[in-house]
Amino acid sequence: MTQQIKKITNFTDIYALFGGTFDPIHYGHLIPIEELAKKIGLHHVILLPNNIPPHRIKPKASIQQRLEMIKLAIKNNTLFSISTSELKRKTPSYTVETLISFRQQIGWKKQLGFIIGQDSLISINTWFHWKKILDICHLLVCARPGYTTYFPTIEMQQWLKNHQIYKPEILKNKPYGFIYIANTSLLNISSTKIRKRKYNIKNYKYILPPKVLNYINKNNLY
Ligand code: ATP
Repeated sequence: MTQQIKKITNFTDIYALFGGTFDPIHYGHLIPIEELAKKIGLHHVILLPNNIPPHRIKPKASIQQRLEMIKLAIKNNTLFSISTSELKRKTPSYTVETLISFRQQIGWKKQLGFIIGQDSLISINTWFHWKKILDICHLLVCARPGYTTYFPTIEMQQWLKNHQIYKPEILKNKPYGFIYIANTSLLNISSTKIRKRKYNIKNYKYILPPKVLNYINKNNLY
């Protein structure tokens, strides 16, 4: 962790985190983020696998297995590194608390971006203390098929209007507080469908890295 932070402070760009259950990690996580990184000039993204996600049932794969799959997926890819800080927690991972603990380590001057998919954006009002999130970081949103930016409540529509920016260079004007929705590729991939073995066997090469698929098969996961 300390090592990662030292590495990051050499960069002048945004300190970017991407949280998820990664049960398992797939190309729907990796490809949109690589595109986002190119669009906004991110040099580094820290993957933040969570332990007990607040909104969902317990992951099927163990912590070690999810971590192993992430390591296999990002091997030789210098864009990504992993933080195990959430995995060490015994209590639910609330994003707002995780972000505050990152802020305590990197200070409040540096741009901090939390990356989410569009499905997470439209349900963000269900997150613990969701309104505080933009007081801590920017939200960097990747497109996901089947989800628009339409919010069901006026309060949320107004929240988006107040914070959304369209030019990524504006992100650098403030350390937190903006929402940037990137026009990334729409990949119809989800961990749920992988766990339920919903994809045609021939298509797996488009769904997740081959090493991750081998690991799943070898360990009889899902
Ligand atoms: P599950 O199907 O188990 O809910 P998932 O595929 O949605 O899992 P998560 O690990 O829960 O994956 O997601 C972590 C983050 O990645 C979330 O912010 C989610 O919105 C985003 N994400 C997941 N899949 C995609 C995708 N295909 N395109 C864009 N964003 C995605």
